[in-house]
Amino acid sequence: MAHAYIGFGSNIDDRLYYITQALRLLLEPDSVSLIQISSLYETEPVGYEEQDWFLNGVIAVETRLLAHQLLILLKAIEGLVGRRDRTRWAPREVDLDLLIYDQCCINTPDLTVPHPEMHQRNFVLVPFAEIAPDVRHPILGQNIRTLLSNLNDQKTVKLIAPPLKIDARI
Ligand code: ATP
Ligand code: CA
Ligand code: CA
Repeated sequence: MAHAYIGFGSNIDDRLYYITQALRLLLEPDSVSLIQISSLYETEPVGYEEQDWFLNGVIAVETRLLAHQLLILLKAIEGLVGRRDRTRWAPREVDLDLLIYDQCCINTPDLTVPHPEMHQRNFVLVPFAEIAPDVRHPILGQNIRTLLSNLNDQKTVKLIAPPLKIDARI
């Protein structure tokens, strides 16, 4: 079994609805089990800034899927939940990013793991540090707690709600 960390986010319409649907679908098949889920954070957009604030969080899962199979599943779920094609960093119904997959370093056209921007983003590291501060970044060699304390990202990340309770069978 592999341990993976997945970042989730939404900044359109009913953000909580999209995130709940996506996490239910992810945990529905037996191939992915939830280990931990962070609180929910409201976060200032990064990149293209003229858009609404996001809801973000991170989950830890255990899975038999290979990293690229997990990516295919994440993209399929984004589509099922209703994500429409827009440019990168545009507003989205739901975004699921594979942040870390065991200590694997993957660099293919479709998949880069660890996620190449994760260590530069408050909205990823804050929820990640809440659930797994001791996980080591396989390339940078530092744990999540240290990456966060060394990061100088001015973007706001506000804790707004306790972890969602996801019932995969509904
Ligand atoms: P960012 O990757 O900077 O967070 P984004 O999430 O807006 O931007 P998307 O439009 O969701 O980007 O995805 C673009 C492509 O990134 C996907 O089609 C996917 O193949 C690729 N990709 C590469 N590595 C990863 C990863 N670790 N997790 C998710 N997608 C990835
Ligand atoms: Ca993303
Ligand atoms: Ca993405």
